[in-house]
Amino acid sequence: YMKKYSLALVGATGLVGRTAIKVLEEFSLPLSKIVFFASEKSAGSKIKFNNDEYIVKELTDTSFDEGFDFAIFSAGSDVAKHFAPIAVSKGCTVVDNSSAFRMESNIPLVVPEVNSSELSNHHGIIANPNCSTIQAVVPLKVLDDKYTIKRIVYSTYQAVSGAGQKGVADLQNGLKGEEPKKFPYQIVNNCIPHIDVFLENGYTKEEMKMINETRKILNKPELKITATAVRVPVINSHSESINVEFEKDFDLKDLINSLKNANGIIVTDDPSKNIYPLATRASGHNEVFVGRIRRDESVESGINFWVVADNIRKGAATNAIQIVKKLIEIDK
Ligand code: NAP
Repeated sequence: YMKKYSLALVGATGLVGRTAIKVLEEFSLPLSKIVFFASEKSAGSKIKFNNDEYIVKELTDTSFDEGFDFAIFSAGSDVAKHFAPIAVSKGCTVVDNSSAFRMESNIPLVVPEVNSSELSNHHGIIANPNCSTIQAVVPLKVLDDKYTIKRIVYSTYQAVSGAGQKGVADLQNGLKGEEPKKFPYQIVNNCIPHIDVFLENGYTKEEMKMINETRKILNKPELKITATAVRVPVINSHSESINVEFEKDFDLKDLINSLKNANGIIVTDDPSKNIYPLATRASGHNEVFVGRIRRDESVESGINFWVVADNIRKGAATNAIQIVKKLIEIDK
């Protein structure tokens, strides 16, 4: 006998939602029921899951009346703010991919490899971090535990899929000479140092998300972090250059070994053979790829490294499903 769970997938027709369907098939969680929700626009369309066909339902205020154990939301902040509390009031546990609840102090912000212990004290909603934060904190947590991080400098090279289907369309249509609709400038032949809106301090919201979410997940509210987030003409998988300074000294071989032994990380690092993480390699995988690991010779104790992950998988769908998997394990 094995307990089975019901699951609602909200935003099932989006980039994250469609990938969540694939990842759910791969993970084979013990599910008794699954229902796919989207807006009125996609209601009635068909979705294939494990060789069965499902009809997409419109998300409404009564959608959660039928009772669900879990819901994964990938439909933006407005949908999350309205519907997640309704789902919770009907006894459902929500894992939300939007930024709606991430920084609320009583809502856990979870990357399973890093802080799954936070899952034991949730109040119905669990927030999935921003895609660029998730792939950074997986290796950073390993390094912080061993060497105590003093300061982080993030520089990101983010794929257009991070801006949803409209972002992907801008690159594909731009290659045919069409004007951009999603990004402020053509993404073809450009690197755009502007993701999400600009804030008063001159940073973008994406950059501040990385800074604030990293502090919350590593449980270091005072940690010194700075970030520059850049959109690049890559369809999928975010790349990041991370510079990190430590309190403690390190041996580079030991440091690399600790990353090799960590859950969810694939060290891809052999410069003599031109081996380093690439977006084309990471796409379609659930792990975080780490390479170009080298001493920062300008400081006492620090390194530079390059980290790449599928932003729709580990950056969104996979991480959310790993959270649900952990919740099921806790429930046993
Ligand atoms: P997307 O491709 O634009 O998909 C949006 C989804 O939300 C579609 O399924 C859409 O359904 C649904 N939706 C919109 N309004 C709705 C409503 N009123 N009720 C129910 N469903 C509604 O966007 P995405 O890239 O998948 O991103 C979805 C969410 O995940 C966002 O919150 C985003 O911030 C977050 N996220 C994205 C990434 C990423 O790298 N892309 C990473 C982390 C988090 P219709 O088909 O009916 O329009």
